[in-house]
Amino acid sequence: MPESAVIIEACAACQGDLEHCHGTAILHVDGEADCSDDPDCRLTAELHLFVISCAEVDCCCGDAGDVPELAGERAAAS
Ligand SMILES: [Zn+2]
Ligand SMILES: [Zn+2]
Ligand SMILES: [Zn+2]
Repeated sequence: MPESAVIIEACAACQGDLEHCHGTAILHVDGEADCSDDPDCRLTAELHLFVISCAEVDCCCGDAGDVPELAGERAAAS
């Protein structure tokens, strides 16, 4: 990546006809990635324009078995 590795205005991967996804990959602790845009997307996290940690979407795979307060919080919120 040469000059601007910051914001992608014209997608280089589109122009190069590379396999990639414009969705957001949700990267789990075990290394698996889910695509938030396309349920059928099988691309790895690196091939997505955006990658977030699954912790940001309240995924609890980081500490399975120990999920104390989230349920109560969600009930109160909605
Ligand atoms: Zn693209
Ligand atoms: Zn997860
Ligand atoms: Zn995707």
